Amino acid sequence: MNDTATKEVFSFQTEVGRLLDIVAGSLYSNREIFLRELVSNASDACDKLRHAALTTPSLVEGNQEFQISLNVDKKAKTITIADNGIGMNHDDLLETLGTIAKSGTGAFLDQLGKGDKNDLSLIGQFGVGFYSAFMVADSVEVTTRKAGEEGAWLWSSDGKGEFSIEPANRDERGTTVVLHTKKDAKEFLEETRIRHIVKTYSDHIGFPVLFKDETLNAASAIWTRPPKDVSTEQHTEFYHHSAHAFDEPWLTIHNRVEGLVSYTNLLYVPSSQPLDLFDPERKGHVKLYVNRVFITEDTKGLLPNFLRFLRGVVDSEDLSLNISREMLQTDPKLAKIRSGLTKKVISELKKKATKNPEDYVSFWKNFGAVVKEGLVEEVGVRDKILEICRFTSTHGDELTSLQEYVDRLKDKQEAIYYIAGDDAAKIAHSPHLEGFRAKGVEVLLLSDSVDEFWMQHVTEFDGKPFKSITRGAADLDAIEGDEPKKDKKDEADTPALDGLIAAIKLELGDLVKDVRPSKRLTESPVCLIADEGDMDVNLERLLQRHGQLQGGTPRVLELNPDHSIVRKLVERADLEGAGSDALLKDAAHLLLDQARIADGEVPSDPAEFARRLSSVMEQAL
Ligand code: ADP
Ligand code: MG
Repeated sequence: MNDTATKEVFSFQTEVGRLLDIVAGSLYSNREIFLRELVSNASDACDKLRHAALTTPSLVEGNQEFQISLNVDKKAKTITIADNGIGMNHDDLLETLGTIAKSGTGAFLDQLGKGDKNDLSLIGQFGVGFYSAFMVADSVEVTTRKAGEEGAWLWSSDGKGEFSIEPANRDERGTTVVLHTKKDAKEFLEETRIRHIVKTYSDHIGFPVLFKDETLNAASAIWTRPPKDVSTEQHTEFYHHSAHAFDEPWLTIHNRVEGLVSYTNLLYVPSSQPLDLFDPERKGHVKLYVNRVFITEDTKGLLPNFLRFLRGVVDSEDLSLNISREMLQTDPKLAKIRSGLTKKVISELKKKATKNPEDYVSFWKNFGAVVKEGLVEEVGVRDKILEICRFTSTHGDELTSLQEYVDRLKDKQEAIYYIAGDDAAKIAHSPHLEGFRAKGVEVLLLSDSVDEFWMQHVTEFDGKPFKSITRGAADLDAIEGDEPKKDKKDEADTPALDGLIAAIKLELGDLVKDVRPSKRLTESPVCLIADEGDMDVNLERLLQRHGQLQGGTPRVLELNPDHSIVRKLVERADLEGAGSDALLKDAAHLLLDQARIADGEVPSDPAEFARRLSSVMEQAL
């Protein structure tokens, strides 16, 4: 007892206060989710204590049976949710229920500000589920006592800016939440309603949820049931609860593995991108259990990074119960589980990709960029990952696999061609593609930033090397494409560019590495490429943007010998006195700038570019 201490009053942290205003004032139709959130907190509290008791068994002495109990009192108009989990002490209460806003608070408010203003059902996903109690209650009382500690505390609030904490009585560890229901929330005092809500949302909870001496839920961990006995709805609910997610699982992988290390996995691939997918601070989301006892959620060693979109549970009876998180990272048994899971997930994805390619597209749009990280990080399964990769290409609107690409190779085509850039629409219109398009030679269009990196590591697929079309010579001549054979006479027609090339080189000096006739252009007059052996254009741009590279390598300017501008310039350059031809000089710079612009860059000297452009226009008009 804490009878010497008195009642303290605190203000909610500003964002929490705003959140409460919205929650309490909402006319939300799906208010029943408050019960899901409170039962879920009770279940988390039991999980936490069971885990803590692994190292400190005295915490649960004399009270080993975890349970959650519900009650309604129609007269008093209260709903009660009680658990014998870990409980909270004074400081826990202060921190978790009021004065410190979790990072999710702001994110949730932002989310509410967007789109469907009424969708409060996401509240749990943002780690602020407790406050959903105020959707149905005008005031809430939390009496709680932390396992292993003496004192108990009463937290209470009407959700209007302030809350109080005072000493209380509670004989046993755990937490009791009492909701004083609002006038318009009477429906939740009905027994049938409570039963229905718990069945709908909380059936998968691994502890018994008791109501009037009856256990409402199955109370067996869902992953321990035979896969065929778990319905899609049950999976969805479990996924929502355990992953704090609100979408449907796109794929469910539930199976048991027997072997040197035996385990059960129940993994979900979300159908939309989780918010923290690219957050470097993100935590692991697949929960590790040992013999049904929750060990940790922050299991970096359990799955490779490129599968970080997975949610769910892995339970193994072969890991040691009191294994520490640090030891986990290096545990050979865990490494076995990791490699088994990795292969399993890849093979399930492959099945989906083959059986239902349209559906696979939605997965790939969400997680393709992440999966491709595995090409660099997980060398052991690189080939398997390549098989499940999909790409946009010049072949058509549908995504293609590398195998399909290889099956479409033209005669004498030796390489898998690609172009990389940060903007899919931009690269699809790149001049570099012209010659390939004309010949019907397919080019992969890579627009994820990770593409540049795996391309540095993965050199080939099916014996065919990857080759960037913005670097080195375009070896298009050798390939037998669709294009009607270019007659020899046409080629004879092509002017000798030597004079023009010499003039441009002289004028541009160090701005370019070289000037050459092009094989890859059919419509544009010019393009820039990286010389064989130099860094590819897009990679250089990427490194510059991330501050990892200063300055750049001069590029090779390629001229399209068939373009009328180039033809005219050839004539001019071959005239006597071309060395002092101001227009020719301006044209050299304008061609270079034009090529830069086509690559999405700016002219090297915008002011000079403007001056030259005006001057050329003046002469033309
Ligand atoms: P989340 O459950 O995602 O952490 P909530 O808003 O639902 O977010 O709960 C906030 C915190 O309050 C919990 O993380 C937990 O520390 C504490 N809490 C809530 N309910 C209980 C409970 N029944 N027993 C112990 N702690 C609880
Ligand atoms: Mg919660």
